[in-house]
Amino acid sequence: MKNYLKILALIVSVTTAFYACSGDDDSGSDDGDGGTTNQAPSSFTAGVDLITETTATLNWTAASDPDGDTVTYTITLQGSEIAIGLTVLTLDLTGLTSSTSYSGTVVANDGNEGSSSASFSFSTEGTAPALHLAFAEFDTDNTDIILSGSNVIIETNGMANHTSPYWSNTTERCATPPMGGEICTNTDTTVNHPLFVEPTATTYQFMAPGNIDDFNGSYSLTVLAAPDLAANSSATGLGAIGIAISGANIYNDQEGPNMPLDNNTIGSFDYTAAHTGPQSYHYHLEPKAWSNDDDALIGIIADGFFIYGRKCNSTNDYPTDLDASGGHTSTTQHSEGASEYHYHIQNELYLNQYYILFPGDYQGTPSNIQ
Ligand SMILES: [Zn+2]
Ligand SMILES: [Zn+2]
Repeated sequence: MKNYLKILALIVSVTTAFYACSGDDDSGSDDGDGGTTNQAPSSFTAGVDLITETTATLNWTAASDPDGDTVTYTITLQGSEIAIGLTVLTLDLTGLTSSTSYSGTVVANDGNEGSSSASFSFSTEGTAPALHLAFAEFDTDNTDIILSGSNVIIETNGMANHTSPYWSNTTERCATPPMGGEICTNTDTTVNHPLFVEPTATTYQFMAPGNIDDFNGSYSLTVLAAPDLAANSSATGLGAIGIAISGANIYNDQEGPNMPLDNNTIGSFDYTAAHTGPQSYHYHLEPKAWSNDDDALIGIIADGFFIYGRKCNSTNDYPTDLDASGGHTSTTQHSEGASEYHYHIQNELYLNQYYILFPGDYQGTPSNIQ
């Protein structure tokens, strides 16, 4: 190409000389006569806007050519030329892949071997996750579920949507929590809460301090809408480690620092394996109010994974491939045919008669429930 241009320049030069000889005085200094060097187009900049999951618009400023040559633009994306000979200053990029980093260059050519270039890079938007179908089972009076970008925020008042002897009632009771200090229930109550039922699994004498509605609870958990398994598992702590679909909290297998659940503590549980104190009404065992040896959704653990009853919807049976935390990957009644990681209440007896809700480690990355 360069040689060709030189030959062309020579022809022009000879022709000019011929006309010069013919008396037509050409005092100009045309390009390519060997006396003038072609100058490259000026530097310019490129940028990308209007970025979506699959499209973006590339814009660049004009490169001016000192010699007055017509400048055209060649666009390279991910190492491949996608447009040549452009004279406009914009190009719509289509057919892109979501959540992907792209880079490329705009090259300004003056048609005489002169060029300058500007590089650009951008990332396409991620596919917005939808709210998981399982959230439809959370009690709508007690919880608010909010999809915020790639996060889901679960807010609850900490109450439950089922009966319990732990709702406020006219029978005063006093109890001493593990940390000491006797607490008595509110004696101002003149009527039983509509969801109050007389204790059956426990007795007033063994019930824990505080009624459900004595706690002015407000809890919030923010998790990824599509959580990932963590490289390493992490231990759960005291306090809420999950939120049940009823609105009340899920606790682990400890009742206090180095205090595993014992028959004494379990003696305070109502028929659905929950009790109160120190700050909330919460479940430690299989919550019989809505799950008893079945595949019911129990709630969400603080790492964003759902926890189900002892059976798995994928097989209608007890899963046999659970990890140390009771988790495995399979379809569920809420996964629309896709396999996803979730926990189960493990079908293993504790103290010969109880099924602990979540005694293991988080397999994802937990957030605080606050
Ligand atoms: Zn407890
Ligand atoms: Zn399962």
